[in-house]
Amino acid sequence: MELLALIILILLLLNIHEKCSELYFDIPTVDEYLNENPKCHTEYGISCVMCKSNSIKKQDLINSSSYLSVHVCNHCGLKLYRS
Ligand SMILES: [Zn+2]
Repeated sequence: MELLALIILILLLLNIHEKCSELYFDIPTVDEYLNENPKCHTEYGISCVMCKSNSIKKQDLINSSSYLSVHVCNHCGLKLYRS
């Protein structure tokens, strides 16, 4: 019975990992974002394609030691690019 619970837990964790990876890699890199939205490369830095705000926050995907991050507009909440 414990083995079955362990197998179910592992399958759930693999499914969660797969879903997170898909979501992360659906977001463009900064180069892709700027190529798609060249007007977002301003003299003040990168701006949001939706609301033109230059206030962008970096959100670590898992925790502060994670090397995967998503950059989100502080004004409208749009996920802009990943790093
Ligand atoms: Zn915005």
